[in-house]
Amino acid sequence: MIIKKKIKDLQETVNGFKKNKKSVGFVPTMGALHNGHLFLINTCKRENDICICSIFINPAQFNNKTDFDKYPKTIENDIALLEGAGCDILFLPDTAEMYAENEQLLHYNLGFIETILEGQYRPGHFQGICIIVDKLLAAVLPRLLYLGRKDYQQCMVIQKMMDLKKYEIQLHICDTVREPDGLAMSSRNMRLNTEERKQAVSIIISLKNIQQTLAAVNIEVAKKEAIHYLQQKGFKVDYVEIADTITLQPVIHWDGKQPLIALVAAYINEVRLIDNIAL
Ligand code: AMP
Repeated sequence: MIIKKKIKDLQETVNGFKKNKKSVGFVPTMGALHNGHLFLINTCKRENDICICSIFINPAQFNNKTDFDKYPKTIENDIALLEGAGCDILFLPDTAEMYAENEQLLHYNLGFIETILEGQYRPGHFQGICIIVDKLLAAVLPRLLYLGRKDYQQCMVIQKMMDLKKYEIQLHICDTVREPDGLAMSSRNMRLNTEERKQAVSIIISLKNIQQTLAAVNIEVAKKEAIHYLQQKGFKVDYVEIADTITLQPVIHWDGKQPLIALVAAYINEVRLIDNIAL
C-alpha cells in the first residue's frame, strides 16, 4: 500500500493511475478502523481498479473538545487492516496539511438539512465535514465515493455539498455493519466499558421496536416509547426522530407509503452513539 501525507504527492500518484485508465474509488475515514470501514474498502475495491482511503481526524467537525481529544487513535492497526484488505493508497495528512494557518474557511449553503438532528445537537458539525470532504474530493476526484448508511444524515449532507460544488462523483451508500447483537459498529464503541457495551444494544432494539409497531401506533407514540425505553436503559437521549428518507423532514402523519427512516442519537454516560433504520 502506498502511503501519502501531502496533497500534492497524492494527486501526482492518483493522476498517474488515471492516465493509465484506472478507475478510482475513495473511502474517507477518521481511522480507528473496524469491519464497517472494511466493508466500504472491500466494496470500493470490488467496483474500482484503485481504492484510496484517507484517515484524518478532522478537528473542525468536533463541537466538543473532549470528544475530539478522546477520539480513538489506532494508526498502526489501521495500516495493517488496510494492507490486509488490499487498499492501494492511504492518504494520511496532518492537520497543517489540511488547514492552512489563518485560512478563511468556506461556508456551504446546506439549508434545512444541517439545521436538524445532528445539525441541531452538533452546531457546525456538517460545515466542518463539508470543508474536509470537499478538500479530499478535490484532491482525489474519484469516480465513486463510499460512505456508510450508519451516518445517514452525513450522506445526505455530502451529496448536497457535491451538488453545490458540481462534483461529478457518484455516491455509493453502504449498509451498516453490525456486531452480532445488532449494535452498529463504530470507532466510539471502543470507549464503552463492559457494562456500557451491554447497554448499547438498546439503541438498535429501540429502532426495531419502532419498525415493528409503527403501523399500529402513531408516530408521536412510537417516538415517545423509544425515548422512554432508552431512558430506562440509562441513556440520555438527544433525539429519536422519524423522518422522510430523502429530505429528513420529520414526519408527523404517515400515509403508510412515504419511505421513512427512524434515527437515534443518545449518550450512554460520556459516549454518544447514533444509529438509524429504514422503516
Ligand atoms: P468515520 O471513520 O466514523 O468517520 O467513518 C468513515 C466512514 O465509515 C463513514 O462513511 C461512515 O458512515 C462509515 N461507517 C462507520 N461505521 C460504519 C458501519 N458500522 N457500517 C458501515 N459503514 C460505517
